[in-house]
Amino acid sequence: NMMERVQKVIANAGVTSRRKAEKLIEEGRVKVNGKVIRELGVKVSPQKDTVEVDGIPLDKEEPVYFLFYKPKQVISAVQDDRGRKVVTDYFKEVEQRIFPVGRLDYETSGLLLLTNDGEFANLMMHPKNKINKTYIAKVKGKPGKDELKALQRGLPIEGKKTAPAKARIKSANIKTNSSIVELVIHEGRNQQVRKMFDAIGHPVMKLKREKYSFLTLENLKPGDKRPLKPIEVKRLI
Ligand code: URA
Repeated sequence: NMMERVQKVIANAGVTSRRKAEKLIEEGRVKVNGKVIRELGVKVSPQKDTVEVDGIPLDKEEPVYFLFYKPKQVISAVQDDRGRKVVTDYFKEVEQRIFPVGRLDYETSGLLLLTNDGEFANLMMHPKNKINKTYIAKVKGKPGKDELKALQRGLPIEGKKTAPAKARIKSANIKTNSSIVELVIHEGRNQQVRKMFDAIGHPVMKLKREKYSFLTLENLKPGDKRPLKPIEVKRLI
């Protein structure tokens, strides 16, 4: 029964980041066992103590997990200040406070997990877990041997080399001067796929995430979703 700092417990529940949880504490919005706390040093037992944020207890929800086929032109967030469509608009009937596990760009479609389990989300996104993500990119022109090699070996983006990846041409279209490339990466840097193709001079025209670890889009259509089976959740963690 480990004692943990309150800000860590809040972050692990998926409410917000640790840094922002510290702010919530300083603002007097966090209660432990019914009493407002204002110092950052307080430790609690996630099992035995009750932590509330704005009067809402953590961990009172059963954990839920969904596989979602994000359409393009939807934001991977729970709200948008510019009123654009967000992924949770597709989960209105779900009572739990779910959020996306990582992000796909506004223009990217494909497989996205959503959950209310912060610990699960943190695990999925932790670099040491090296979860493979398979992308299908329509790119300008046709990358040659050396350019594919560069994608595979890793190339510098923003001064830091990408990890080894798989890359292969699936098809090419001379008329439209474009090709379809499959890229498998396990890192999750911001706009990584687009930046990798920019780096080899073949910018992405269209991007879709086809696989997340062993999970595929199956027969889903954009906007469709299904709950993960308990055995699938187990296999992911
Ligand atoms: N890489 C990108 O460039 N965009 C995504 O949406 C996902 C990975």
